[in-house]
Amino acid sequence: MASKQSKEFLKESEQKAFDLNHRKIINNNIDKYNTAVEIGISRFNNLENSKRRAYSTKWKVLENLDKTLPEFESNFQRKGGKVIWAENAEEARNEIWKIISRHNAKSVIKSKSMATEEINLNEFLENKNIDALESDLGEYIVQLLGQKPYHIVTPAMHLSLEDISKLFHEKFNTPLNATAKELTLKARELLRDKYLQSDIGITGANFIIADTGSIALTENEGNARLGTTFPKVHIVVVGIEKIIPSIADLDLFWPLLATHGTGQNLTVYNTILSGPRQEGETDGPEEMYVILLDNGRTNVLAQKDQRQGLYCIRCGACLNACPVYKNIGGHAYETTYSGPIGSLITPHMKGMEAFKHLSDASSLCGKCTEVCPVKIDIHNMLLANRRDAVTQKLTPEMERIGWKVFSAATSNRSLLDRFGGRFKNFIMSTFMKKKWGKHRELPDFPDKSFSKQWKERKDSSLD
Ligand code: SF4
Repeated sequence: MASKQSKEFLKESEQKAFDLNHRKIINNNIDKYNTAVEIGISRFNNLENSKRRAYSTKWKVLENLDKTLPEFESNFQRKGGKVIWAENAEEARNEIWKIISRHNAKSVIKSKSMATEEINLNEFLENKNIDALESDLGEYIVQLLGQKPYHIVTPAMHLSLEDISKLFHEKFNTPLNATAKELTLKARELLRDKYLQSDIGITGANFIIADTGSIALTENEGNARLGTTFPKVHIVVVGIEKIIPSIADLDLFWPLLATHGTGQNLTVYNTILSGPRQEGETDGPEEMYVILLDNGRTNVLAQKDQRQGLYCIRCGACLNACPVYKNIGGHAYETTYSGPIGSLITPHMKGMEAFKHLSDASSLCGKCTEVCPVKIDIHNMLLANRRDAVTQKLTPEMERIGWKVFSAATSNRSLLDRFGGRFKNFIMSTFMKKKWGKHRELPDFPDKSFSKQWKERKDSSLD
């Protein structure tokens, strides 16, 4: 039976695919991205080699997670930081709440983090009457709209300048025709004081560095830096797969992330944090916590054929390249991680039965694999997900029977040729119409198959 999530996905996708305004905005933003990325990646001497190195580094570190994560933990704790292991979203939220309660905190300033999205932290804090404010401009905009991020790198990619001007006009009375610069200045004015007033700063991390016990943050607005400098407590929520072996590996991963994420050589602000403020230092938090989040990642790790999904550095390139994403957009997926990478990992993180449909939402064109900076074989892994759904008997029984019949019939040429086009068209329109979809025309079988015509011609030429 189709899951609730699958029905919602189909409904939402159909609606978005025919929303021409949505398509125009997305195509426009992705066009700009493509131009920037083309320039960005042209600056690599040997991009293929860098991608291969990134792949093998991630392969090695993830095959040795049992050593590299404790290495990070002991190095980070040596400098006064605290590491908390969270098996799932609930554990992570509870640990955050314990820290907030211990400090009697009332307000939190957040910087962009998909891991906090994954654990629904904003809703949790709101229910606890904690004032939690997103400081990344894109996140701030979607927070004002009460929406989830649309894209893992550009959360407000689905909005035009006019949409944002209208929103700011309604909320803050800025001019309806405000420019992007004016809107950014307004957001900055609204956010600046919050850095000073907030009790706690919460961020994600782009990388966890094992040999120095540090986290690396990469951003373009500098908000994460402010949010980790002024508040007395800094909490990092990060997935365990973000680990890299050494600080020297940033030399490879930072440019790969920047070029594939936005087309920049390097993102504007790159910060390495190795614990709370040390004696003699003038800024930084008094306490720093890193919450290492599993939340289904070890299930991905357990999949021999799909564990590569954990090598992802969240650059968003596969989303921008995907013909399905470009038509249905990020919200239709209703998952934290959308697009090809989301379709690959979500069934293992949140349940194959509920999310197996995402692996079908792919044309298998392979563009996602082609653009991935860590060479994840995404489209073949989506196929492996489909295989797993079948072997785990999660597809409807009628579908399984149907494919068996189809496979037996199409493997037998003489059986196929025994029936004419009219009969085949009848079978297709009776049994396949619904699956085929109302927006596609069913193929029209000719009265005689190609093989039959070929045979007849050959026979007549011999006469
Ligand atoms: S799977 Fe590859 S292309 Fe997609 S977001 Fe992750 S690193 Fe980027």
